[in-house]
Amino acid sequence: FQAESKNIASVKYTSGMQAHGSHLPAAEKEIRRGLQNKEFVLYFQPQLNLLTNRIDGVEALVRWDHPEKGILSPDQFLPDFEALGLNGQLDSYVLKQACEIGAHWYSEYKRRITIAVNLSAVEFQDPKLVAKIQSLLVEFEIPPKYLELEITENIVITDMVSAMDTIVMLQNMGIKVSIDDFGTGYSSLSYLRKLPIDKIKIDRSFITDFASNDSDLTIVKSMIKLSHGLGKRVLAEGVESEEQLSLLRKLGCDAVQGFYINPPLPQQKLATYLVRK
Ligand code: C2E
Ligand code: MG
Ligand code: MG
Ligand code: MG
Repeated sequence: FQAESKNIASVKYTSGMQAHGSHLPAAEKEIRRGLQNKEFVLYFQPQLNLLTNRIDGVEALVRWDHPEKGILSPDQFLPDFEALGLNGQLDSYVLKQACEIGAHWYSEYKRRITIAVNLSAVEFQDPKLVAKIQSLLVEFEIPPKYLELEITENIVITDMVSAMDTIVMLQNMGIKVSIDDFGTGYSSLSYLRKLPIDKIKIDRSFITDFASNDSDLTIVKSMIKLSHGLGKRVLAEGVESEEQLSLLRKLGCDAVQGFYINPPLPQQKLATYLVRK
């Protein structure tokens, strides 16, 4: 089904599609138009390194700059993309945009910052992923350590063996890999031990109340300990208050991301972090 959908997407410019196009549901037509017209833009949420107290990375988060509806967030369109088998295509677009913007920042501000990109299962399982990334890094002259890929636990356990192969290849190229939304999927501690990943991102749902809820606090503490015990960095998502931030500092968390630090920002707003020495 996915391969078929990709084909449909890739023949959207051919004449035969026009008649077919009129039968497509409105949502699909809009999505295809959006992709064709490059209506998708990246926002960037800064990641604060608690050791250095500096912003040393950003997460790229896609938005749909819709001509009538304004800026739409992923929750409003990702499910449709998934249903249509088009999320791989969106991720490819996002990856390329992220590299292009990273190269632009470097030429403008002479400073590199790690850009983390979210990958859907389809994109992560694409046999061409590694080659695709390799050629993007060459094209935009980006040292591999400045690219990070975020995948979820569920993607990993669906096909443990090939996920492991892909991650090892990415790691050998010098690209970082992190586990997103940690704790919400089908976790298995044995896979964590074996995976050569760099970072674990504690899901926001554990952070929301952990400053006042004892069981959440216990879970967050254990996740930090677990990550460090396995030699991995740990980042807390969804930090919304000073209280949460200082508690995470105390617990030895390596990095944080959240509205209290910064919301996701449009490309130009990030310059303030890049000019800072
Ligand atoms: P995620 O990767 O876990 O990204 C974090 C989400 O939490 C973002 O939502 C971000 O805006 C939001 N967030 C950050 N800090 C806070 C906070 O302090 N409080 C609260 N309440 N929320 C916070 P966003 O941008 O709406 O993205 C939602 C999800 O959509 C992402 O979750 C990710 O799974 C997915 N996504 C975003 N961009 C892409 C993409 O390019 N490709 C793929 N495949 N998925 C994407
Ligand atoms: Mg993410
Ligand atoms: Mg996340
Ligand atoms: Mg999340």
